Amino acid sequence: MAIERTLSIIKPDATRRNLTGRINAKFEDAGLRIVAQKRIHLSKAQAGQFYAVHAERPFYDELCTFMASEPVVVQVLEGEGAIAKNREVMGATNPANADDGTIRKEFALSVGENSVHGSDAPETAATEIAFFFSGLELVG
Ligand code: ADP
Ligand code: MG
Repeated sequence: MAIERTLSIIKPDATRRNLTGRINAKFEDAGLRIVAQKRIHLSKAQAGQFYAVHAERPFYDELCTFMASEPVVVQVLEGEGAIAKNREVMGATNPANADDGTIRKEFALSVGENSVHGSDAPETAATEIAFFFSGLELVG
C-alpha cells in the first residue's frame, strides 16, 4: 500500500479536556507520523467553509458553532494507507457505534462532539490539507 497523507483535527471537546497528547499517542501507536501540526482557533465562518460539504445537513450550524467554540489542533498524518488507517483509529462517527480501543469510543462525548476529524478519501485529504497548511509546513 502507498504512503499517504491525511488531514486530522483534534476537536474542541478534546482540546478542552487536555486530550491532545493521549490522542496523538493513538495515532503514533498505529504507525501514523504527525508530519505537521498547529493549534488554531477557527472562526465560525472558517469552520463553515471547511465543512461546506455538510451545508445542507440539519446539524451544520451546530457543527460550525462547536468547531469555533474552542481551539482545535489541525495536523497532517502520514503512513501506509494513512487515510483508511486514521479512520480505523478514529472509530465510527457516533461513539455508541465505535469499536473498543478507538479514539471516539474512548473519548467522544456525543455524535457531534466526537473528538476528531479525519479525511475520508484521497481527494478530500488533498483539499483539506491545503485548506490549513502550505507545502513548507509539511515536514515528513
Ligand atoms: P465523520 O466525522 O465521521 O466523517 P461526517 O462527515 O458524517 O462524519 O460528519 C461530520 C461531523 O459532523 C461529525 O464528525 C460530527 O461532528 C458531526 N455530525 C455528524 N452527524 C451528526 C448528527 N447526527 N448530529 C450532530 N452532529 C453530527
Ligand atoms: Mg466526514
